Amino acid sequence: MPTAAFLWITLLFANLYCGATTATFERRFEKGEPLSAQLYATSSAIREAGEASAEEIRAFESRLADACADVDALSTVGGDANARGRAASVCTIAAKLNIVVVAPNSPGYDSEKDIHWSLTSRLLAACFIRPQSTLDVAAVIKIAAYTKSKFAVRSGGHNPNAGFASVDETGVLIDLQDMNALSVDEDAILKAGPGNRWGKIYEFLDAKGLGAQGGRNGDVGVAGYLLGGGMSFFPNLYGLGVDTVVNFKVVLGNATVVNANATSNPDLFVALKGGANNFGIITEFQIQAHTAHQMWYSLEAYAAADYKAVLNATIYAQTEMEKDPKVGLFVNINPGALVIGKFYAEFSDKPAAFAAFDVVAPIATPVPATNGTMHGLVTAISPPGYTPANREPIAVSHGVDLDLYMAIHEQYLLVSASTTSTVSLSYTIQPFGTAGVQAGHARGGNNLGLEAVSQTWHASLVEWTSPEDNTTAHDLVTALGASVEALARQRNSFYPYRFMNDASYVQDPLQSYGLANAEKMRAVSSAYDGGRVFQILQNSGFLLAHL
Ligand SMILES: Cc1cc2nc3c(=O)[nH]c(=O)nc-3n(C[C@H](O)[C@H](O)[C@H](O)COP(=O)(O)OP(=O)(O)OC[C@H]3O[C@@H](n4cnc5c(N)ncnc54)[C@H](O)[C@@H]3O)c2cc1C
Repeated sequence: MPTAAFLWITLLFANLYCGATTATFERRFEKGEPLSAQLYATSSAIREAGEASAEEIRAFESRLADACADVDALSTVGGDANARGRAASVCTIAAKLNIVVVAPNSPGYDSEKDIHWSLTSRLLAACFIRPQSTLDVAAVIKIAAYTKSKFAVRSGGHNPNAGFASVDETGVLIDLQDMNALSVDEDAILKAGPGNRWGKIYEFLDAKGLGAQGGRNGDVGVAGYLLGGGMSFFPNLYGLGVDTVVNFKVVLGNATVVNANATSNPDLFVALKGGANNFGIITEFQIQAHTAHQMWYSLEAYAAADYKAVLNATIYAQTEMEKDPKVGLFVNINPGALVIGKFYAEFSDKPAAFAAFDVVAPIATPVPATNGTMHGLVTAISPPGYTPANREPIAVSHGVDLDLYMAIHEQYLLVSASTTSTVSLSYTIQPFGTAGVQAGHARGGNNLGLEAVSQTWHASLVEWTSPEDNTTAHDLVTALGASVEALARQRNSFYPYRFMNDASYVQDPLQSYGLANAEKMRAVSSAYDGGRVFQILQNSGFLLAHL
């Protein structure tokens, strides 16, 4: 951190630079430093922390010097304006500083919202700000905090909860898509900017004979996925995606940058593992890549009528997963078919863990049995583009119990039968085993409060296109979620943990981590975001402020 004398000189220099005299500067300083001075202090602190090159700092400070008077004038207007006015002033100030801003009426403004996977999240912000560097992110946070403007942060835009990574014209969207640098060192530590999506990461690592604990769809963004935990193909082998993170570079609410890892800011490091967007904006993840990236995979679809055999085979495979962490599985249940993803973490003939599926014949094989790599698999199962639809998920965790699976499925059939043809309900069985929870502990632990037992992370999803179905769709998926929970409770098979990446805005995953973890997160929030920038100014999310 810069010394007080250093900051004072920086602030003084900033104001003289802006044409202010020392006397006027001192008067303004008493009222609070002008934004231009604070931005100089921000860039100085980042230079001192070694988080930007000398050239970047020089360019930023030279832009700031040119725009200094405008920046201060606009920031004062922002302070007095309503939410729209404050957001607009952030857009204008950022543009004055040559930060990339996609404003209304500029090319690409409308299509910025279309990046979101779900229509529910497609909101038009006051502007979309596209930082190119950690310094840009820090400057934008400083401007938003100074003007008290609402903001939201987007990585891959795959979260369907409205307002989590989106905001309307009363706020600005910080769109990280351009921060997509990738590099890997000799210890297989991957450095990934938050604008990356998993497909690109797998492609990059594949060429180097590596893999990673990432999303099972290539379009999912690295940041939202990791900050929510991250379910991958082989959770039992390596833990969750976030368990493989060894360092987060974070822009905090006061616009300083810290690194959080096992030895530096370790409380923040653990809190970020499942802590979502509560503590800062991650501008770089360092991830331990897998050195074994060869795998066996197949995707098969079974007739809906064969659900009993498929669920029975699922239980068998989950039992085998407890013995062999190289086994991976998901079961995606749609009205028309049950799609089973079968995976093994090395080249293989068909693994014995999937033998019980052989009692029924698949009706289709979207991905035939292949010895390949994660990149090949994700390319095969991630169709290019996605059908525009509204989506809402629900997350419930429960035990591995055939009777429960049957009861849930029968309930699913009942609820689905009441849907119209314009609303579609599906659910996914995601196994997570004892070894996976233990792998997370072995890598320093996360914040999720998971029991080290074999468990299933159930994710229901409703999809619809017409706004007329908004209420019906919401009611359907929440009813199914409530039924799954009730059925699990009846069998003493309910686990409180709610997987954030599949959770609806009406759920409370942070609460599900347990009281002690929630308290730790609150303490970390107070320590690292004393100004509560991420609790008050951030548009939405699974925020501690909502607990
Ligand atoms: C087709 C599909 C497949 C999926 N597959 C998987 C899967 O295999 N495994 C799994 O675990 N999940 C999966 N998910 C769920 C997904 O991980 C979550 O929806 C996740 O939130 C998406 O991350 P994102 O970066 O794309 O989302 P975004 O919508 O961009 O962001 C999600 C949240 O993260 C915050 N955020 C984004 N970037 C940052 C940052 N740099 N710093 C701080 N906060 C930030 C946002 O503010 C927002 O609250 C899938 C989702 C879809 C739609």
